[in-house]
Amino acid sequence: MNTFNIAIDGPAGAGKSTVARLTANRLHFQYIDTGAMYRAVTWLALQRQLPLDDSERMAAAAMEMDLVLETTPEGTRVYVGGVEITEDIRTPQVTSHVSAVAKIAAVRDILVKKQQQMAARGGVVMDGRDIGTKVLPHAEVKVFLTASIEERARRRFAEMQAKGIDTSLSELTKDIARRDELDSQRVVSPLKKANDATVLDTTGLDVAEVVEKILALCRTKVARP
Ligand code: C5P
Repeated sequence: MNTFNIAIDGPAGAGKSTVARLTANRLHFQYIDTGAMYRAVTWLALQRQLPLDDSERMAAAAMEMDLVLETTPEGTRVYVGGVEITEDIRTPQVTSHVSAVAKIAAVRDILVKKQQQMAARGGVVMDGRDIGTKVLPHAEVKVFLTASIEERARRRFAEMQAKGIDTSLSELTKDIARRDELDSQRVVSPLKKANDATVLDTTGLDVAEVVEKILALCRTKVARP
């Protein structure tokens, strides 16, 4: 297949990052986790005790942030200023504040530009909330991944437990519902299915089945050379 880009959007816990990473591995594409970028800005702001509603200072932090995303077969390693923060950006504290940061237009402008540069040469699987609608509106393949809220909370719970992070299923369900609400209702680039995206409901499907569906979709959307 020719080089092309795949945009994967959807609500929290729909399985985007695992599916996107494995799809990228199969195609020898680069996986880019845009949620990690919003989380990194949030982590930095919390570290510096910046007021998260001060859009100018938040944009300045996003602009000067020396962020490196390292793709490994196991996942994305995240560094800011040379310090690894891969685990730090997944804590409940960062998770509960990230939507407030992600709604700041000036922060989004900066991160969206970085994301567009990363995808400029093609061969990228990018996941997030606004990839098909805003970041890569011309992506050849667009997928909108969903799953029931109960299933999404169960998956996050299993992930957290595996990492030894203490949380409860009901807390996670509430957090996911709250983030869905904030991400879908915000004024700037809300979570929204692109008109030309294919919806994949992953409830009851395992990861391998979802990846196969996306690869099949790629074959229908992208002409072979
Ligand atoms: O994908 P993940 O759950 O790690 O994303 C964390 C948060 O970052 C989301 O809840 C959303 O507020 C924000 N985000 C976004 N746009 C993206 C990716 C993530 O607003 N493209």
